[in-house]
Amino acid sequence: MDTANLEHAAALVQQADLLIVAAGAGMGVDSGLPDFRGNDGFWKAYPALGRARMEFTSVASPATFHEDPALAWGFYGHRLNLYRDTVPHAGFKLLKQWGERMEQGAAVFTSNVDGQFQKAGFDPQRILECHGSIHHLQCLEPCGDHIWPADGYTPQVDTASCQLLNAAPTCPHCGALARPNILMFGDSGWIEQRASEQEARLEALLRKARKPLVVELGAGVAIPSVRHFGQTVIRNHNGRMIRINPREPQVASPQDVGLAANALAALSAINALL
Ligand SMILES: [Zn+2]
Repeated sequence: MDTANLEHAAALVQQADLLIVAAGAGMGVDSGLPDFRGNDGFWKAYPALGRARMEFTSVASPATFHEDPALAWGFYGHRLNLYRDTVPHAGFKLLKQWGERMEQGAAVFTSNVDGQFQKAGFDPQRILECHGSIHHLQCLEPCGDHIWPADGYTPQVDTASCQLLNAAPTCPHCGALARPNILMFGDSGWIEQRASEQEARLEALLRKARKPLVVELGAGVAIPSVRHFGQTVIRNHNGRMIRINPREPQVASPQDVGLAANALAALSAINALL
């Protein structure tokens, strides 16, 4: 990160009237969360699935909930417990402080299902979780469009075998198996109503902003939803961007800034110049 880029980034933060945090999986790395990049990263986090040679795309599917609920809930139950126990890293607080100084505040667009922005104190009414949330459940069938909080459910998981030990949650309406309200692979049953409502609220915020700034963190090109959203803010809302990504930091316009770094290091370096 050279000084000119950091100063450019700090100037963008000072000029903006709305902060849009656009986060991908890389945002969680500084909180100690596993990175599922490639089979190696995934199997390192879940050795039992590595031994079975089960890929992420196969485990994270409604088909696995139908065929092997104890394994599917072993995987998601472990993640639910992990995310409940995780403390968001200091970069979340810096972003929150930046937003508090802006006229229109802060909002979040994230592909992460981990609920870390809510945990860090961001307004839940200003968060769009485009792939859903592990902290909410829905019917596997599904029998309707109900989505309910997972708060009352505590999975007990044998991590060595990736198996759920207690009873899996069920749909309160029809009694079928419940699943996380997360968009999975090969998923035609995901209920998107919650995300759609979040999207409508975020669009309303963007319409009020004159100079929105997207701070994109840890969003690789392989999963384009976060990157695509940032582009629409630039194109449709006169926005600017700070892209923070250790491997793919390039930006299209010289008015924007790319920083090749992890989230916390880059946010701290910018913050030192404010
Ligand atoms: Zn149901």
